[in-house]
Amino acid sequence: MLIDAHIHLDQYAENEIPALLEEAEHVIAVSMNLPSCKKSLKLSKAYAKVKAAFGFHPEQPLLSDAEEDMLFEWIRQHSDEMVAIGEVGLPYYLKQEKRVDYLPYVALLERFIVLAKELNKPIVLHAVYEDAAIVCDLLEKHQVTKAHFHWFKGDEEVIERMISNGYFISVTPDCTYETEIQQLIKKYPIELMMVETDGPWPFEGQFDNKRTSPWMMDPSVEVIASIKGLTTQEAARIITGNTIKLYNL
Ligand SMILES: [Zn+2]
Repeated sequence: MLIDAHIHLDQYAENEIPALLEEAEHVIAVSMNLPSCKKSLKLSKAYAKVKAAFGFHPEQPLLSDAEEDMLFEWIRQHSDEMVAIGEVGLPYYLKQEKRVDYLPYVALLERFIVLAKELNKPIVLHAVYEDAAIVCDLLEKHQVTKAHFHWFKGDEEVIERMISNGYFISVTPDCTYETEIQQLIKKYPIELMMVETDGPWPFEGQFDNKRTSPWMMDPSVEVIASIKGLTTQEAARIITGNTIKLYNL
């Protein structure tokens, strides 16, 4: 069984969760905001397979200063109960829809990076295309190395930079039908690769109209194995080992 390195478990109905968890060895349950952090914490206490990450998803309006302080205070108080800071990053998709003032988002992300460094926890990043370079600048500035770029997409230059810095990526079930992701798998070392669902986000192709669940990582591992010239078992062993190592499971 595989580890789902990135899932929004708090967005599933409670009655869906037990069956979903039967399909994974562990899941890293990332959080969107404070209510989501509280729900992830509750799920991690209810199910041993669930490992919680606490953060603030970047694709949403920012908090007031007081609300932001409250979130950081809560995360500090519960830092022993989380495996990582996440999900945090920059609002790439929001920016495609409307004008977004990036500076406050960058400042918030830097605050999370400093916290991850202070707490010595990995950081789960939502940072694609040109945003990845901004995030690399911040990680390098604070000498943070335990970084996980989930569902990563980006250009050759930033890929090289991330590999030389030892940052991890994870691929979603879209690697079964997106050639862009298959190219990424070709370039990125398997030693820095994990798999995820980003569930309940829906997928296409063979996953059309299916509720996103950890079994969907099996075809991803088959794709990775075939690109890397490994057996599925060998690829699964390496990928699971990577996730255990990064998240200290
Ligand atoms: Zn996510």
